[in-house]
Amino acid sequence: MALPAASYHPRRPQDTDYYHCVEDYFEIFVQEYDDRFSRQYGFWRPYVEKVIYRYLDCGDLRHGFARVKCKDCGHEYLLAFSCKRRHFCPSCHQKRVVEFGEWLCMDVLKKVPHRHFIFSIPKILRRYFLYDRKLLAGLSRCAWESLKVFMQQAVPEKAPIPGAVIAMQTFGDFLGFNPHCHILVTDGCFYGQKGMFRVAPPLELKKLEAIFRHKVFKMLLNRGKITKEMIAMLSTWRHSGFNVFCGNRILPKAQTAMENLARYIIRASFSQERMKYLEQEGTVIYTAKDGKTNKNFPALEWLAAMCSHIPNRGEQMVRYYGYYSNVSRGKRKEAGADDALPSILEPEGNAKVLRKSWARLIQKIYEVDPLVCPHCKGTMRIISFIEDAQVIRDILMHLGLWLVRSRPPPKICAATLSEPKTSDSYAHPPLLQADAYADPEYSWDDYIQS
Ligand SMILES: [Zn+2]
Ligand SMILES: [Zn+2]
Repeated sequence: MALPAASYHPRRPQDTDYYHCVEDYFEIFVQEYDDRFSRQYGFWRPYVEKVIYRYLDCGDLRHGFARVKCKDCGHEYLLAFSCKRRHFCPSCHQKRVVEFGEWLCMDVLKKVPHRHFIFSIPKILRRYFLYDRKLLAGLSRCAWESLKVFMQQAVPEKAPIPGAVIAMQTFGDFLGFNPHCHILVTDGCFYGQKGMFRVAPPLELKKLEAIFRHKVFKMLLNRGKITKEMIAMLSTWRHSGFNVFCGNRILPKAQTAMENLARYIIRASFSQERMKYLEQEGTVIYTAKDGKTNKNFPALEWLAAMCSHIPNRGEQMVRYYGYYSNVSRGKRKEAGADDALPSILEPEGNAKVLRKSWARLIQKIYEVDPLVCPHCKGTMRIISFIEDAQVIRDILMHLGLWLVRSRPPPKICAATLSEPKTSDSYAHPPLLQADAYADPEYSWDDYIQS
C-alpha cells in the first residue's frame, strides 16, 4: 500500500476548555467519586468512565481514520473517527442533533400543525430521577398520557389519536439535574382510516398541568418513591412546582421552524462557549444563558455535575407515541400508507451511506464542504477506512504524527501519558468554534405562526 503524502486534522477537539478540564481531572474523579460525590449524585456508574475515555479519544487519529484524497491534484488528508457518544461528546452530540432533526422531519412528522410543549416537575422530586433513571421513562409516559387525554377531548370525531415525540432532558440551570420533557405533539388528532386530521382548539394549560401532576404523583407512589402523606403535603402548595409550557402553533409549511424545533428538543442546554476552565486554579466558571450570572465550580464538582447527565448505555432519551409510535409507523409502512421515505439510515457498517451522510452532515453543521480540496477546489473522496492497528501505526509513523499531542500531558495523570511533545504543524485550526451545545437562537420563532 502506498503511504499518503500529507495529512491534517480537520478538527481539534483537544483545543477546548471542555476537553482540557476533562482530561486533567477524569482520573482523580473516577477514584474519588464514591467518597465525594455518591451522596449527591448516586452510585458510581462504570459506563460513565467508558464514555469519558471514548470522548478523550474522539477524533484521535491513532484510533483509526478515513483517507480522503483529491482526485485532481492528489492532495490527501486523514480524517479521524469519532466516538459517537451522545450527550457527553459535544462534537458527536451535535452531529446527532442535526441527523435527528432531519430524520424526524422526513420520516416521522406528518404535514399537520404541531406544538412544542415543555413539562417540568418541582425541585423536591428531581432527585428520585437522578438516583433511579428508569423513572425518566415513567415521566415521559405521564406527559404523553396527559396530553393524549386533552387532545382527544378537544376533537369530536371517533377514536381520535394525536402523535407525539418526547425527548427527556436533564440539564437545569448551572448544570443542575432537572428532568423535564420536551415534546413535539400534533396540534390535534388523526382519525378514521385515511389519516384525516382535526386541529384542536387552544388547550387550558392549568388543567393539563393538574392532570400531569396527578399522574406523576401516582407513578412515584406506585414505585414506592413517595408516600401519600408527601402527596398530600405537596398538593397544598400554592405553586405546585409543576409546569407546562406551550409554544405557538407551527404550520406544516414552516419547514425550517420544524427542523429547528426537532433539533432543539434533543439539544443539551449546556454550552461549551459559556464555560471557562482556569487550569491554575482548577476551577470552571460557567455563565448562565443571560450572559450575566456566573457560577464557579471546583473542576471535580463540574465534572460530577456533567456526568450526572450521561444516559446509561442504551437508555432511550426519545420516545414516540400515538400516531407517531413505532408500532403505528410500522403498520402504515407495511400497508404502504406512509408516504414519507425512510431515506436516512443509520450509517454504521455501510461505507457508501456513511460517506454520503457524513459529508452532508458536516456541511450542514459547519457550512463548509469537507470534500472540497483546500488546494485546487477539486472534489475529494474517501478512498479507504483504516482500522487495523498496525496499518494505523505505519501511516502515522510515516507522517510523523504518531507521537503528536497538541499539549503537554496533564499534571494529574502524567504517569499514563509519556509521549514527548513533537511538531504539530500538520494540524489545522478547527473548522469552526466547538460550541456544539450552544442554545439555539430560537430562530424558529421567526417562522412560527399562530
Ligand atoms: Zn486538489
Ligand atoms: Zn465524539
